[in-house]
Amino acid sequence: NIHNQNYQIPMKRTLGTFSKTQKKFVSPLLQNNSNQSNNGAVSNENVFSDTVEDPEGFLKNIDKKMVEMIQNEIMVKMEKVECTELAFREDIAGLEHAKKTILEIVVWPMLRPDIFTGLRGINRFLIKTTHYFAGPPKGLLLFGPPGTGKTLIGKCIASQSNATFFSISSSSLTSKWVGEGEKMVRALFAVARLHQPSVIFMDEIDSLLTQRTDGEVEASRRIKTEFLVQFDGCATSSNDRILLIGATNRPWEIDEAARRRFRKKLYIPLPEANGRESLFRRLLRSESNSLTDLDIEKLVSCTEGYSGSDCDGLIREACLGPVREISDIRNITIDQVREVRYIDFENALSQVRASVSEKDLLCYLNWDSQHGSGS
Ligand code: ADP
Repeated sequence: NIHNQNYQIPMKRTLGTFSKTQKKFVSPLLQNNSNQSNNGAVSNENVFSDTVEDPEGFLKNIDKKMVEMIQNEIMVKMEKVECTELAFREDIAGLEHAKKTILEIVVWPMLRPDIFTGLRGINRFLIKTTHYFAGPPKGLLLFGPPGTGKTLIGKCIASQSNATFFSISSSSLTSKWVGEGEKMVRALFAVARLHQPSVIFMDEIDSLLTQRTDGEVEASRRIKTEFLVQFDGCATSSNDRILLIGATNRPWEIDEAARRRFRKKLYIPLPEANGRESLFRRLLRSESNSLTDLDIEKLVSCTEGYSGSDCDGLIREACLGPVREISDIRNITIDQVREVRYIDFENALSQVRASVSEKDLLCYLNWDSQHGSGS
């Protein structure tokens, strides 16, 4: 029975660990060095256990089917890899400012809340005028053109913070969960509480938090209200270690009340030259090619205005060049496929163009200067 507080939840696809929030936090580093718990701290040993208990009753009154669905489809399984800070910096090309800010205000405080207290805590709320609550911000808005790595950043934050990652597209709440979106929001936050520390990544968050209009459908309005209630709940609770990351290509559509709840709003722009260069170099590492440093330099200057995913698409297109020359693909060995050359990129450049317009870029810059958290 789901209402039974000892209900056992099957844990098929999770890296998440159940941790009692009241217990003392232990750095994963300390845990690696010693399996013994430290000062009664939570041990990480049940990370891959088959069942998880719910002694706090987070799932009380939550639909069991929804809980299972969230765990199977929205909770993202991540490999238990050692995710270093270096990997975080290297996997995401460019975006140096965004990465630095994210490490300082989100990842480190999530990893070491014991260090990020007092004045180091970004999220100081004055509670009952005398007590401060310090910790990482609970709401982070990533905005910018499509294909610039917002989703990638969300994933990296989760793995960097040893958090359980929940990824959901806001539009699926209104379309896929017709009539149940509101219950789904409640269930999502409940499961995230159970598996905390958690990162909830919501793509297309503008579709959920859009400005209210007279014609707004009642169901969407209810989902939004429930979402804001839940968001406020974890933002003001010192026990909850849940970070909500909203990603949007249309930040101007988010209404003011919702916008204010995101304490940090980070612009994720198109990659600059050095970002594109590292993206090209990294992607080409796995492909046999004859590109010289000069070719890469040319490529970087030809792709001004390309998003990360445009660059990705360009390389994929170029890599098809050698394959297109093969007359009989069935009877060829892999070493007979020639290396990728600069000419393949020249051809690809006429096929894959920058997807973001100058006009759109101006809109992002304007919105950033008015509401962004600065660069
Ligand atoms: P967004 O969420 O901003 O629309 P994504 O994170 O889904 O964009 O990026 C789409 C794809 O483009 C990624 O899977 C990745 O291959 C590539 N990409 C985009 N930006 C970057 C970046 N800064 N570094 C590395 N890869 C990137």
